[in-house]
Amino acid sequence: MKSEPLKRPPAGVAAAAVAGLLLAAAPHLRAESGRSPARPPYRAVCTVGMVTDIVRQVAGERAAVEGIIGEGVDPHLYQATRGDVARLLDADIVFYNGLLLEGRMTDALIKVARKRPVFAVTELIDAALLLEPPEFQGHHDPHVWMDVRLWSRCTEQVARTLQEFDPPHADEYLARYRRYARELERLDEYARATLATIPAERRVLVTAHDAFNYFGRAYNVRVAGIQGISTESEAGIADINRLVDLLVQAKIPAVFVETSVSEKNVRALIEGAAARGHSVRIGGSLFSDAMGRPGAYEGTYIGMIDHNVTTIAQALGGSAPPRGMKGLLAGNRP
Ligand code: ZN
Repeated sequence: MKSEPLKRPPAGVAAAAVAGLLLAAAPHLRAESGRSPARPPYRAVCTVGMVTDIVRQVAGERAAVEGIIGEGVDPHLYQATRGDVARLLDADIVFYNGLLLEGRMTDALIKVARKRPVFAVTELIDAALLLEPPEFQGHHDPHVWMDVRLWSRCTEQVARTLQEFDPPHADEYLARYRRYARELERLDEYARATLATIPAERRVLVTAHDAFNYFGRAYNVRVAGIQGISTESEAGIADINRLVDLLVQAKIPAVFVETSVSEKNVRALIEGAAARGHSVRIGGSLFSDAMGRPGAYEGTYIGMIDHNVTTIAQALGGSAPPRGMKGLLAGNRP
């Protein structure tokens, strides 16, 4: 019997028609025959929730997608457990944020990358679009998801990666990415319009750590964090005093806590301002480096950003719909 050479489907040819043939060309994919049709053909394991969500959006039914770093957990300080390494090694493909966000998982990711395809979703972003804060010792700021347009580029990167990983379904990944990108465009427009309603002199976001630099650049908000880019750096008394000066001088009415960072420093800030006769309140709890509860709207990337934008606008004197862009927010729980 003569065997045909395997090749990628030419553009325009329905990939599904040759899917069975091409699976043989992609040995990293588990054979689909013999599995129940409900079971996805491969497993993708991700680090933070924001990455898990975009991989899930693009992969759809094709993959079982799992995240390792959950709700309220700080990725800067997270160390992979033995169980995590086993899950990563058992994955067919691994995605992480990169830019040292998962700084303490570096060794584990290097180890896994010897045996499994491992990709950073921020890897191919044009370096000119990345922020390089001087205090982060020559590294780029990893909090890229705070700018919805940049995160859309990372989502596109996920789609390209899955197209190469699973060529017979390339068209599906592209279609799903495009559909999701339209939702992200809407979210970006909501963020821009809503934050612009905050009076310019009050458009200052003070948070526990410097997770909002991309957010500030994208949406024209001045940002200041007590701790630096990584929560590994300790805040000193000088950091607190510098921000108390800012709060008092600019008469900023509210500061924000973060779900994945201790409130201790933010409380010190409020006390410092009070000692100088300026009353500041906690404007709400923001999702900086972790999303909300799985299954909740805030447990999705879109819900996370909607929550942040809506909370910030409401606390700083702007106007936002009480329950956000889609009317789905559970409300503020400072
Ligand atoms: Zn962070």
